[in-house]
Amino acid sequence: MSTKPFQSGLMWFRRDLRTDDNTALFHALASCERVYCVFLLDVDILQDLPRQDMRVEFIRESLVLLDKQLQLLAHKPGAGLIVRHARAASELPALARSLGVQAVFTNHDYEPFAIARDASVRGALADAGISFRTYKDQVVFEREEVMTQMGRPYGVYTPYSNAWRKALAATPAHHYDTALNGAALAEIPAALRTGVPTLQEFGFERSALSQLPVRPGAQGAQALLKDFLPRMERYQATRDFPSVKGPSYLSVHLRFGTVSVRQLVREANARAAQSAGAETWLKELIWRDFYAQILANFPHVVERSFKREYDAIQWESGAQAEQLFAAWCEGRTGYPLVDAAMAQLNQTGYMHNRLRMVTASFLVKDLGIDWRWGERYFAIKLIDFDLASNNGGWQWASSSGCDAQPYFRIFNPTSQSEKFDAQGKFIRKYLPQLTALPDAALHAPWDARPLDLASAGVELGRDYPLPIVQHADARARTLARYAVVKKSAEV
Ligand code: FAD
Repeated sequence: MSTKPFQSGLMWFRRDLRTDDNTALFHALASCERVYCVFLLDVDILQDLPRQDMRVEFIRESLVLLDKQLQLLAHKPGAGLIVRHARAASELPALARSLGVQAVFTNHDYEPFAIARDASVRGALADAGISFRTYKDQVVFEREEVMTQMGRPYGVYTPYSNAWRKALAATPAHHYDTALNGAALAEIPAALRTGVPTLQEFGFERSALSQLPVRPGAQGAQALLKDFLPRMERYQATRDFPSVKGPSYLSVHLRFGTVSVRQLVREANARAAQSAGAETWLKELIWRDFYAQILANFPHVVERSFKREYDAIQWESGAQAEQLFAAWCEGRTGYPLVDAAMAQLNQTGYMHNRLRMVTASFLVKDLGIDWRWGERYFAIKLIDFDLASNNGGWQWASSSGCDAQPYFRIFNPTSQSEKFDAQGKFIRKYLPQLTALPDAALHAPWDARPLDLASAGVELGRDYPLPIVQHADARARTLARYAVVKKSAEV
């Protein structure tokens, strides 16, 4: 006789496209005799995306691999993933009813759109007498799990990080062993066995993804992790230099859950006591949890400044602001490090963390443009776009966020370039028209000797733009712009 509470259940995959160490899948397999699995290509999300989108292609390729992983886990070829292209909010309850399941299992998603969708799904399932069971998986500690002694959410990183580490010591990051009950995976009913649709079948086209060194799925994530583990030791020393292979490049896998954040935390934590690199990397993973809890506890950040007084700032507007913004988006500012960074983003969907800080600061504090414009552009372009981390990064750069850069600290794009790309390797990779300039002239071509420009074949204004703004003037304008918040920033 069965000891499991449910005859059959449905596992709904979203941002967790892996079978290993997946909390909701583990619980579904442990509590149901038969488990079906579904991924919904949600019309509500896809309709707003460009027809060539690296993220959509990454998801599609990862679904193909997830389907295979499920078959392996089940030890039956008839098992796997049901994939539907529909409105998730209505399709999920309809599918649960037609499969006759008693429970749906899924992992938490903290973005406002997902919260509203899940509330509607929960209601529809309840109407049909189907249980909706949801779990923490995307982060190590969520929402209200790490709070101040007063029971309030943290707004400053360092005390949050200390409390987070205490919580981890008390509750280590668990490995959810889905292999224990893999045999509970059910065969897909014949009528639903359509396989993963091609991009064209759901209205998309191939993107540049296949030309990039990004491998989708859990296999792609584990290959990156294997490559990073021996480098983790040097992370602290290498992570700030965009031409060096310093970071892990795992962000896209964290975004789509093709890797378990708990696995990464276990790897970093095991090495942190002996290795400054592992210690620093662990802190970055804690930043990710930190911003996720900021979004969950202070949802106003999606629209407005974390520190509300920063909403009084008057940003540039009108045609000139639009032109400056377009130059920033297209990498035509005349500041080589900024332009090379925007080229990296536009060509690969990735931007090195140091450069995200430099370009965000440049938009907000050199061009005087509202951080929300930049946040939106990154949201369209980043393959690892994550609402919480992107918003946190932009509010940090604009000084309006929690634990932000003080408003009077303004990155100098030229000295950032001299410091973090001294030999111009990164700049030359993305701005080949400047390749022949001497290293010293690369960071500020407008100051280069005419002879150097001529012998490198560079005419400013023709081959490469003159700077669209003078940093020293912009700095003064920014300090004046931020005067409205000066008082509150100084207390
Ligand atoms: P690694 O250096 O290997 O770090 C490991 C992981 O730690 C990352 O994958 C990420 O999950 C986390 N992490 C590292 N730095 C941060 C950080 N500052 N904040 C939060 N988590 C961090 N990260 C995103 O994942 N999605 C975004 O949309 C995003 N937008 C950003 C926008 C701005 C303006 C800024 C300044 C930062 C943004 N970040 C974002 C954070 C960071 O730049 C990226 O996580 C990192 O560059 C990804 O590369 P990696 O995986 O090689 O990172």
